[in-house]
Amino acid sequence: MFIFDTQSHPIGLMDVDHYPASQPDSIPPPTLAEIPTPYGRPALGPRDWDVDEMIAEMDQHGISKAVVMCGSIQVTNDNLAEAVRLHPDRLLAFASYEHYQPDSLDAATTGKAVAAMERGIAQLGFRGIGEIHWDRFSPTPPDQMYIEVRPILEVCRKYGVPVYFHMSVEPLTHRIRRVGEEGSSWKYHPAPLPYRDPVYLDAVAIEYPDVPILVGHMGGRFRRHFEGALMLALRHRNVYLTTVNAPVEHIAEAVREVGADRILWGSDWARHRRWHADNLSALDKASLTPAQKEAILGRNLAELLGIPVP
Ligand SMILES: [Zn+2]
Repeated sequence: MFIFDTQSHPIGLMDVDHYPASQPDSIPPPTLAEIPTPYGRPALGPRDWDVDEMIAEMDQHGISKAVVMCGSIQVTNDNLAEAVRLHPDRLLAFASYEHYQPDSLDAATTGKAVAAMERGIAQLGFRGIGEIHWDRFSPTPPDQMYIEVRPILEVCRKYGVPVYFHMSVEPLTHRIRRVGEEGSSWKYHPAPLPYRDPVYLDAVAIEYPDVPILVGHMGGRFRRHFEGALMLALRHRNVYLTTVNAPVEHIAEAVREVGADRILWGSDWARHRRWHADNLSALDKASLTPAQKEAILGRNLAELLGIPVP
C-alpha cells in the first residue's frame, strides 16, 4: 500500500503549544542560534534536526513519502529544503513564511513573507504552503482573518498549490508573534478558541475556490469544531480534511458525508510525539473499504500534488 503522510514536523521547535497556560514563563524561547548540520555542511539556521529519525520510523511503518512542514514556529525554507535534498525520494516540503508574518497593516513584512513563500515554491520546488496557525494572526478578529491570510492564498493561487491550515483544539493554545529585530525573541499569548474554529475558513474558501484548502485534524477532537470542518468540506469542493489525530468516529463520519476522495491521511510526526502507529490504527478502525483506505492513505494527496502513485 502506498502511504503518503500529509503532515510531518521533523525539524524541531514544535512543542510550544503544549505548555501549561498557568505557567506562561515556562515556555522556552525558540532557538534562533544557528545549529551545525550533522553532515558537516554549513549551518542552516535555527532548528532541531530529527529528519533521519523520522525516515527510520517511516521505514518501520511502511510509509513511502511524507510532506515536511513547519508547525506553530515557522521553520526556514532552507532547512526544509535540506531535508528534501537528503531524502528526495521520500520527502516533499510545504513552504513557510519564515520569520515574517503577513500583516495587512505592514506591507514591508508582508512583502518579505510573500518572497519567502514564493522562493520556497518557485526556487526550492515545494508543493504547498503550511502549516498555517490561524491564532498567530490574532488579535485580528477571527471573522476578519480571511483578509490577513490573503497574501498566502494569493501565492497558492499563483503557483497552483494547496495551503494547509492547523485547526484543532488543544488544552492550551498560544498565539506567537515575533517582536523586535530579526533574530529577536518571540512573544506568546493565550489564543482564544475561535481561532481554531474551521467555520472561519469559509470566507477563505469562498474567495479562493481554485486553491485546495487542507483543514488539519478535521478541526480537532471536539464535535463543535469537527462539525465546522464538515460543513466547510460540504460547501466547498476545494476543501480537504486531514485525518491527523482525528478520532476514529470523526474519520468514519467524514468519509460518509464528504466522500473518501477529499480525506487525507497524516501523522503530525515530531520528535517527541511519534504518531505514525496511532494514526494508521485510527484509519484501520474506521470501517473503510480497501478502496477508500487506499485513496486516503496516499492516492488523494499524490493526485493533489501531482506525484505519480507507484
Ligand atoms: Zn496541526
